[in-house]
Amino acid sequence: MTDQSTRTIPHWIDGAERVVAGSRTAPVFNPATGAVQAEVQFADDAVIADAIASAERGFRVWSQYSIAKRQSVMFAFRELLNARKGELAAIITSEHGKVLSDAAGEIARGMEVVELACGFPSLTKGEHSENVSTGIDVYTFKQPLGVIGIISPFNFPVMVPMWFFSVAIAAGNAAIVKPSEKDPSASIWLAKLWQEAGLPDGVFTVLQGDKQAVDGLLNSPVVQSISFVGSTPIAQYIYENAARTGKRVQALGGAKNHMLVLPDADLELAADMAVNAGYGAAGERCMAISVVLAVEPVADDLVAKIRERIGRLRIGDGASTPEPDMGPLITGVHRDKVAGYVDVAEADGADIVVDGRGFQVDGAEDGFFFGPTLLDKVPTSSAAYREEIFGPVLSIVRVQSYDEGLELINSGRFGNGTAIFTNDGGAARRFQNEVQVGMIGVNVPIPVPVAYHSFGGWKQSMFGDAKAYGVHGFDFFTREKAITSRWLDPAKHGGIDLGFPQHD
Ligand code: NAD
Repeated sequence: MTDQSTRTIPHWIDGAERVVAGSRTAPVFNPATGAVQAEVQFADDAVIADAIASAERGFRVWSQYSIAKRQSVMFAFRELLNARKGELAAIITSEHGKVLSDAAGEIARGMEVVELACGFPSLTKGEHSENVSTGIDVYTFKQPLGVIGIISPFNFPVMVPMWFFSVAIAAGNAAIVKPSEKDPSASIWLAKLWQEAGLPDGVFTVLQGDKQAVDGLLNSPVVQSISFVGSTPIAQYIYENAARTGKRVQALGGAKNHMLVLPDADLELAADMAVNAGYGAAGERCMAISVVLAVEPVADDLVAKIRERIGRLRIGDGASTPEPDMGPLITGVHRDKVAGYVDVAEADGADIVVDGRGFQVDGAEDGFFFGPTLLDKVPTSSAAYREEIFGPVLSIVRVQSYDEGLELINSGRFGNGTAIFTNDGGAARRFQNEVQVGMIGVNVPIPVPVAYHSFGGWKQSMFGDAKAYGVHGFDFFTREKAITSRWLDPAKHGGIDLGFPQHD
């Protein structure tokens, strides 16, 4: 329940907060306490139309800024963000629940893309071929698309929008961000920072809401592209509907990332990394490891090492001191869904090695906590193996060989991330060649590529052709023109006339 004094989280349109009286709203929780701390506004069609119209005006102004002027705004944004990132981390933790250092890590990874985008002049320049035919030159240049839409998931309220808006805005577009309704405040904070950095009104817009806001962006002929990150069913919906209206689209979906541990691997390292990648951010990462494929005979040993490490994890409010290792899940509904998967695994015959169901933190009994959970001998027919759980649940599947492990990974419907742990370079090399997954770690558990490469999975983890950020990002947010030009040789037309006054 909310009281009269509950804070309202607004939209950001035309350089100002927008609150609409009588609007539909949704509660925003503090997951560590379970309390409603704010109500977020949900856009109706009039607000959506205003947001798009303002972005269109913003685009007309911003796209005519010189490269030097755009670059100075980008650098100012980066400097302000760097100076004030602590405030933003606190906002992430209060609405998402991840621990403060992890929130700071999310900002750091997002800021890498801002820094990449500061160098946009070299990534958006064209090419020139002289004299392709006598007197004829061909050259290309890239122009921004116009108004672009970004629809973001709850688990990275800063990094994911930043992957897209940094590149899009640097390239001269106007961005409309539709944040997750579960943690919508960070985007408003970022909007104010952009304003302080000198970005013209309308170039960064925040449209709060649900399916109505998303459909408003999808159906608008003004919106030129959609960048989506979220669950696979919605990613597919976005892909199909954005394509239907002729937009560019990149729609990143869910994941079920496997870590293959070969018998020659360093098991101490593998256990450390499995715990880190399985339980960090309470498993609410699209690059989290959710399945460990233990190639026998290492499974018993590995399970013991992981269990021992789980015993040392501290769970609590992500903003508390000393900082815990893991915070709560995003909502009570999501916590119950995660618990449901553990019930399913148990019913399907998995061993529950560590059970996080019913876990409570003293003094925060209403928080959405779920303890780290370790399942062993999980049948691959179980929904707990096949579906994305998105919580602190690590499943061990015992396999007899590299080939059996590889076959399991490749037969899955997701292809976001995977990792191999081995000391055999040849095995790792074969794995990176054979595995049907977009991002691969070799003795590295969460292989999110740096900003100057690009991020994207395969199969049902990504719909569309252009990945996020890097060169893919700049290609996605620009359109190229090729000019074929002929200028006549002045020697054949009475010499060069510079237009200056002539003296005898
Ligand atoms: P979600 O799909 O529920 O929501 C994502 C966005 O879509 C939100 O802004 C939400 O408001 C909107 N949305 C929800 N239902 C909609 C509908 N019916 N029509 C239109 N829009 C709708 O995802 P989530 O729970 O916020 O995020 C978790 C998911 O995101 C996980 O599946 C995770 O794997 C995935 N994810 C993927 C990546 C990646 O890079 N592949 C990164 C982060 C998260």
